[in-house]
Amino acid sequence: MGEKILVVEDNELNLKLFCDLLRAHGYAAEPVRDGREAVERARDFVPDLIVMDIQMPHISGLELIEQMKADQELKRTPIMAVTAYAAKGDEERIRDAGAEGYVSKPISVIRFVEAVRALLAMPRAEEPESSDAEGAANPVEDSRPPAEPEGEQPPPRLI
Ligand code: MN
Repeated sequence: MGEKILVVEDNELNLKLFCDLLRAHGYAAEPVRDGREAVERARDFVPDLIVMDIQMPHISGLELIEQMKADQELKRTPIMAVTAYAAKGDEERIRDAGAEGYVSKPISVIRFVEAVRALLAMPRAEEPESSDAEGAANPVEDSRPPAEPEGEQPPPRLI
């Protein structure tokens, strides 16, 4: 079975489209229709990636991204935001909330799958106490920008 992807999307058709598309590419897709269940479902499913719709009733995707990035268990799981509007400032708000990737609707199937692939291929932000041996085995390590002067090193991003 392929990598696990949690898909949070209130629109039934989009939810089915995303899940079908991901499954067709070998991923194990898990649908979440109600954003209020997203955090708990993410803890249970332990996904390798979360696809997050931004415009949802009850709780916005931005709020969910912020919650997940503040959660010790979930903060290292990459999040790909999906938004209906490519309005100015949207991408910045999504990035500020902590999402690692972003695609806008209408979704290009190719771009969607490419973005998923790219995010899954990215090295995870490491625990501060992570061993040197692990880092040395990862060739992508060398291409990272220098660490921030203070605090944890920020996770890699597509946006
Ligand atoms: Mn929506």
